[in-house]
Amino acid sequence: MKRIPGNLKIKAYHAITSEKVRQIGNSYKTCLIGGNSCAKAISSHSVPVSALKTIAHVGHVYTFQSPTYDELNNIYATCKYHPKLLGIKKASTYYGFCNIHDDSIFSEIEKFDIHPTNKQVFLFHFRAYSRTLYQNINGDIALREIYNTKIPFGQESIDARLKIASYFKPQEAAFLDLSNNYERMKLCLEAKKNPMLSSIFIRINCIPDVMCSAILSPVYDFEGNFLLPLLIENELDFCQTMSITISKDSTGGFILLSWNDDDILTGSFIKTFIKSGFDFNRLIAIIFGNTENFFFDERWWHSLDDERRNLLMYFASVTFLSIADLSQDHWQLMYRTLVNNQKKYVNWQILSIDQIKG
Ligand SMILES: [Zn+2]
Repeated sequence: MKRIPGNLKIKAYHAITSEKVRQIGNSYKTCLIGGNSCAKAISSHSVPVSALKTIAHVGHVYTFQSPTYDELNNIYATCKYHPKLLGIKKASTYYGFCNIHDDSIFSEIEKFDIHPTNKQVFLFHFRAYSRTLYQNINGDIALREIYNTKIPFGQESIDARLKIASYFKPQEAAFLDLSNNYERMKLCLEAKKNPMLSSIFIRINCIPDVMCSAILSPVYDFEGNFLLPLLIENELDFCQTMSITISKDSTGGFILLSWNDDDILTGSFIKTFIKSGFDFNRLIAIIFGNTENFFFDERWWHSLDDERRNLLMYFASVTFLSIADLSQDHWQLMYRTLVNNQKKYVNWQILSIDQIKG
C-alpha cells in the first residue's frame, strides 16, 4: 500500500477504504436467503445480461467502479469521476444467492415480460435492495480489515485507527437499517406474500442508453429542495429508500420506480418527479449523483458533448468529495448545479405509464 501524504488525512482514509473494498471485491459468497445451509452464492446479474448486451459495444459497457488510489486523487483534484469500460459478464454482478434461490426467486422477472405484476415490482425492488446489502457486507468487512491492519502512518497510526473506528458507528446504523428492511422483505418472500409497494412503471420507445438496478435514499426532492426538515426527529433514524430499475424485456425499454407509500421523503421525491412530467434527463443526473450499479452505452457517452459529460462526471464525484472535504456542503452544491444546468441527456419518449399506489 502506498504511503499516504500527511496533508490528505480524511481523503487518505477514504483512499485506503476504497483500495480495500477493491481488494476484497466480491469475497463474500454466502447465500443471502439460506446462509451457510445453502451452497456457495453464485455470481448473478442485477441487470440481466440480455439487457446489457443491447447497450454493449464489443461486449463492454461503461460504469463507475471503486476507484484506485490514483483515481481517487484525480477525483479530488478535478471534481470529475471518469467512467471505465467493464465486460458485460462482470457488469452488475454480485454473489447474492445460491443457484437454487437465485433461480427460484428471480425467474419471474428474468424469463417473463414485465407488466409489471405486484410480484414483479417487489422482485425488482428486492433485487436492488439485496445487491446494496451485499455491497455493504463487503464494505463492512473492508472497514474491519483496515482497522485490524497496521497502517503505515508512522506516528499517525493512532489517529488513523480512531478515524477508521469513527466510521463504524454510522456504518453500523446504516447497515442495521438496511439489514432490518432486507429481513422484512425476505420474510415476505418466504411466506409468498408480496408487500404492496407503490410504483411507477414507464414504457419507453427505445432501448434505454443507461440501465440500472439501484437504490436511492432521497435527501433532496426532484426540484432540489432539501427534504430532511419534513421529518420529525425520531424518523431520522430510518433511512427511506426507493428502488430504480431501468432495463428492457422482449417488448422494449422500461423504467420502474418503487417505494413504500408511508415514506415521506420518497413520497415527496416521487411527487416532484411526476410534477416534472417524468423528466428523464433530470432522473439520469440524479442517478449519476446518488446511486451506483448503473451502466451505459459507450456510443451514448461519446455522443454527449464535453459540457454534458463533465456535468455527469461531476455528479458522480460528489459521493467522494462530500466525504473528503467537509468545508462545503457538496450535496447542496450538486443539487444547485443540477437544477440550474438542466441538460438533455437522453431522448426517451414515453409510450405508457402505470402507477400503482401501495
Ligand atoms: Zn440459497
